[in-house]
Amino acid sequence: MIAGTLNKIPKHFNSSSAARFGALYRQVSLLLLLNLSHYGDFGEENLEVVRSVANVEFAKAVILGNHDSWFTKKFSESEKDKVQLQLECLGKEHVAYQRLDLPLIKVSVVGGRPFSCGGTSLFRKKLLSARYGVKDMDESAKRIQKAALGTPENHFLILLAHNGPTGLGSGLNDICGKDWEFKGDGGDHGDPDLACAISLLKENNEVSIPLVVFGHMHKELAHGNGFRKMIVVGADNTIYLNGAIVPRVKSLDDGNKRSLDNESPLSSLEIKGTARAFTLVELSEGRVTKVAESWVAVVEDRTTLIEEYVLFERN
Ligand SMILES: [Zn+2]
Repeated sequence: MIAGTLNKIPKHFNSSSAARFGALYRQVSLLLLLNLSHYGDFGEENLEVVRSVANVEFAKAVILGNHDSWFTKKFSESEKDKVQLQLECLGKEHVAYQRLDLPLIKVSVVGGRPFSCGGTSLFRKKLLSARYGVKDMDESAKRIQKAALGTPENHFLILLAHNGPTGLGSGLNDICGKDWEFKGDGGDHGDPDLACAISLLKENNEVSIPLVVFGHMHKELAHGNGFRKMIVVGADNTIYLNGAIVPRVKSLDDGNKRSLDNESPLSSLEIKGTARAFTLVELSEGRVTKVAESWVAVVEDRTTLIEEYVLFERN
């Protein structure tokens, strides 16, 4: 039902990509767009990519990351900078500190802090203060909490943030663990404000939070240290899901081409396409029933599911 993230663009990405993905997974009804470029964000203030995203004709929710404010440290008063232009393009679908209700599918998406780059200090403090009136972690946590309050009772709530919360481990392969430190055991690079907002909401029993989705911390670890844990199921059954598979688009390798040859009538000459990663979450009756990392081959206008790694399945 919910597709986590889409692919590297702009070349390969347009509204028909999403439509074709929808044709492959007929039940997909919401796209959560986290990281499309090589950097794990949309690009370094790449307006063209953000415009393509805004034009995708799909129910969707978006959160901008640190690379999307790579050059802009404060809003320009004399002319619109690229951060302002990106925000304008996305409109209400950029969910930072707000809630997007989708009554047709009974889902609400609440956004965390935009432009996050993880850790204990606020990234792009001047932007946050000017646009959202947020000056510190505490205010940020309260803004996220406030946005979640009032979620319709029969809606499935998804928290969407650029980076995950603290408290999910400090090992280098943990879901938000630092993988670039040479000494020690990495460290927890999660967002403390997101963790605080989640615990405030849980403490007061204000809303239930079945799913927290984020990116930023790449699956492939630095220095050839293997791969990151991409899913954590909390003691209270909240699912924390990292969708930062980078790069998200790969050339089809020989193995993929062979499997396509077996499963589809495409001739080898036609196979010059790409494999693209999607993190897919299936919901049924208000519960997550399956989470999978899926690789879809796209060859011209045809799509084939070539690999699927199940990360979670409810019995
Ligand atoms: Zn990032």
